[in-house]
Amino acid sequence: MATNLRTIAPHTSLPEIESLMVTYDVGRLPVLEGDRLVGIVTRTDVLRQVGQQSASAYRESHHPAHLTRPPILGNLVERLAPQLREILAIAAHQAEERGWHLYLVGGAVRDLLLADTDEWVIITDIDLVVDGYHRSADVGAGVELARSLQSLYPKVRLDIHGKFQTAALLWHKDPIFDSLWVDIATARTEFYPYPAANPEVEASSIHQDLYRRDFTINALALRLTQPRSGELLDFFGGILDLQSQQIRVLHTHSFVEDPTRIYRAVRFAVRLGFEIEPQTEASIRHAIASGIYEQVQNRQTAGRVSAPALQTRLKSELKHILQAPYWKAALQKLADLEALRCIHSTLSLDDSLAWQLRSLDRWLRCLDPRQTIPHWQLLLEGLIAHLQPGDRATVAQNLQLSSESHDRLTQLEAVQSHLIENLPRCDRPSQRAKLLKPYDFAMLMLIAAQSPRPTRRQIWRYLTVWSQIKPTITGRELQQLGYKPGPKFRQILDDLWAATLDGQVNDRPQAEAYLAEHYPQQND
Ligand code: ATP
Ligand code: MG
Repeated sequence: MATNLRTIAPHTSLPEIESLMVTYDVGRLPVLEGDRLVGIVTRTDVLRQVGQQSASAYRESHHPAHLTRPPILGNLVERLAPQLREILAIAAHQAEERGWHLYLVGGAVRDLLLADTDEWVIITDIDLVVDGYHRSADVGAGVELARSLQSLYPKVRLDIHGKFQTAALLWHKDPIFDSLWVDIATARTEFYPYPAANPEVEASSIHQDLYRRDFTINALALRLTQPRSGELLDFFGGILDLQSQQIRVLHTHSFVEDPTRIYRAVRFAVRLGFEIEPQTEASIRHAIASGIYEQVQNRQTAGRVSAPALQTRLKSELKHILQAPYWKAALQKLADLEALRCIHSTLSLDDSLAWQLRSLDRWLRCLDPRQTIPHWQLLLEGLIAHLQPGDRATVAQNLQLSSESHDRLTQLEAVQSHLIENLPRCDRPSQRAKLLKPYDFAMLMLIAAQSPRPTRRQIWRYLTVWSQIKPTITGRELQQLGYKPGPKFRQILDDLWAATLDGQVNDRPQAEAYLAEHYPQQND
């Protein structure tokens, strides 16, 4: 049951009623006189009225673009950095030559509307939708447009997904574009030939494309082609929501269809400082309470259903969130919504997990500032490590983490108990270092985050001091001193290293004295 109802008054006109029904996708509008309910207008009522009008008059007034009377907000594209503007202009020209329509859609339009007007906007991923019919049965208009752009920019990489639908143009570390990703999708009408100038079909086709999207603020389109280039299409009230800073889904079942949208809602809310609109939040809670994600997970775990696309998207949303500067707030918001259950039914963010992740983040920033291992990946492992040991591998597998992550999470419990048990038994630094040496940096980080203070301290010392100590004599120098490579050789080096760690050997003369005492050379 909706709580923030759209209502009308007795004098509301038929076009206004149509507009409300289309924009907000409502089938019934209560009629209020003051605060008194005096009637209701349904879709059938509207259809009946419309049916009585002549067919031509109906056609003239009924296409969605006409209904919503899109505002023209100056030329938004002017706010884009010049190199991006140029690509869009060329793409629009190519589309026009073929009689197609081209739109900038999704995040780019949102970000352009939100951007400061006195600075150029740089966008690294651009979504375009082309609406046009291509004669060849196996090439979509989007693919054709991408190919023709590729011929103008030979350095770009072209990826084609699916048979008809989308193509991506990728620039990597380009001197002009740096890293840029341009996705070109084809609106659905490509399958039906129609005159390009038919505004009714055109409007419904871009409308359909936008209707499949997640939030009103992400379902805006900016027309790039003539006529009416620069026109903003806002079928779902996205501009109002940008102004009132609301994340609002297009339809109530959105989250049941695709749980990753919950993560997206939180990501945009935290990143933009917006509110999740109350009814959208209610839909999130409803979807989670319905247990639908647990069912998918259980069936997937039992091998009965594969949901790789869903899990890959979930992983990519998690990556997005965990590598953003606002990850802590986003994770907290996800936890408040109980949305961590999409990862595993038992996962929640208690104080100890929040502490562990913050500590992991601090250690990573301090010990691996160049991100030799992606930090988001270790944070995700830290999150999964909070589950019961038996569940960790399952989640790693469901989310299709790398085999290293999977192995780490599988071995974590055994390694951790081994270290917690044996570290206190060591007297000397060299013994502790030997115990920790077999494990990679990532494994030690995960263990440190989860372990009691004394263990954490030893791991810290190992990572910051012991593992950095250089041998006082290298293998080559040892050979120069007359020692022959062989099984004993490694042991000599190890012993020297241990003696250095324990402070018995501090320089080359002490190393040579140590060798003379412990590994004297026979003169034969
Ligand atoms: P960002 O600035 O983070 O890239 P974005 O809005 O561009 O934000 P993308 O993930 O690049 O987000 O997706 C591009 C567009 O595709 C979105 O704006 C939205 O319209 C649509 N979209 C993406 N994911 C979904 C989804 N799960 N469900 C529906 N629409 C989606
Ligand atoms: Mg994007």
